[in-house]
Amino acid sequence: MAKKTLPFTKEQIEDIIKKYPTPFHVYDEGAMRENARRLVKAFSWAPLFREYFAVKAAPNPHLLKILNQEGFGADCSSMAELVLAERTGITGEMIMFTSNDTPAEEFVKALELGAIINLDDITHISYLEKNAGLPEIGCFRYNPGPLRGGNAIIGTPEEAKYGFTREQLFEGYRLLRDKGVRRFGLHTMIASNELDNRYFVDTARMLFDLVRDISKELDISFEFVNLGGGFGIPYRPEDSAVDIEFIGDEIGKAYDELIRKKGLHPLNIYMESGRMITGPYGYLVSRVLHKKNTYKNYIGLDASMANLMRPALYGAYHHITVMGRENEPAVREYDVTGSLCENNDKFAINRMLPEVEIGDIVVIHDAGAHGHAMGFNYNGKLRSSELLLRPDGTVELIRRAETLDDYFATLEFPVGKR
Ligand SMILES: *Cc1c(COP(=O)(O)O)cnc(C)c1O
Repeated sequence: MAKKTLPFTKEQIEDIIKKYPTPFHVYDEGAMRENARRLVKAFSWAPLFREYFAVKAAPNPHLLKILNQEGFGADCSSMAELVLAERTGITGEMIMFTSNDTPAEEFVKALELGAIINLDDITHISYLEKNAGLPEIGCFRYNPGPLRGGNAIIGTPEEAKYGFTREQLFEGYRLLRDKGVRRFGLHTMIASNELDNRYFVDTARMLFDLVRDISKELDISFEFVNLGGGFGIPYRPEDSAVDIEFIGDEIGKAYDELIRKKGLHPLNIYMESGRMITGPYGYLVSRVLHKKNTYKNYIGLDASMANLMRPALYGAYHHITVMGRENEPAVREYDVTGSLCENNDKFAINRMLPEVEIGDIVVIHDAGAHGHAMGFNYNGKLRSSELLLRPDGTVELIRRAETLDDYFATLEFPVGKR
């Protein structure tokens, strides 16, 4: 069971709103750091453990900086994400470039930054070499395809567009070895929002087995495995968070059995989580503009799916707290909507909540990953601001809200000139 708490009181959030109007996302720095430290500690047995934060989850340099201070690197997959890492001061092998269908200029930039380039396909070896040069480290993304015995939890990776087949891995590493590459890594990422602890242990075992097979066959040694992302978070109160200590311990045992005892030590353990790192520590704060009763009861917020599109996109559950009514009984069923001219612009459907009044502050939980990041301008919606709640209780604006001038800035038309 995940307890849905808030890092601020009603009085505190009202004070914040006086300075920064709703809607906005606010991130809890203290809780984010605490979680980051827990993760690092859970893998402290590894020769070197490093989490590369998947920038796409929350691409704000202030958040990247905080995570970098906790020892995290950046997992990037586009030009803008590479430049964001660079401008935050994250360069070299603190960047993992895990992209697919990659344009040449992004490989050039990644190589220029000294990033670890994690290739998605065997044809990208020659494409990279031709357009940017040979990488220092040969690292490939593995797609295990149709299930091979012993792994019950991985879904249907053969349907995923990502990664090399097993045969292609051998061929690819051989090719790079013969070209003189001496450092190697292996990556996989097959799950998303996975809450089953065993999945992550199974994934590590699969990679450890593969490291052994490839090392033996090609007489190369691996520097690291990258376990990917996909750690789920308990969006629903009845969900349980992944047990990061259990996962760390179990992967540690697998490491002893499959790596240390086989003479493959040392092997660094990398990870590239996004959701688990910022998701639970970001909140979308909005205000009730309207109440409407027709065939259903509606609450209309000043936020819309342009601020958080996961419910509309995936039917995802996001917990909702009505400030000041935490202890009132949930007596009424509401659809909680935004103002977009799309009927799926709903944060919740048939949600039991306390009796809500116009002007109430509504907080949507677990909006710290793929929340603001997925924002868009459809229907003339301007992207909202992002705030950072410091451990000392002060609040800092880390991204201002867009203005109408931002909205019109890219138009080749003399708007507004009369
Ligand atoms: C999205 C993504 C991640 C992070 O996934 P989470 O589910 O947020 O942990 C990591 N690596 C790659 C390649 C991704 O596309």
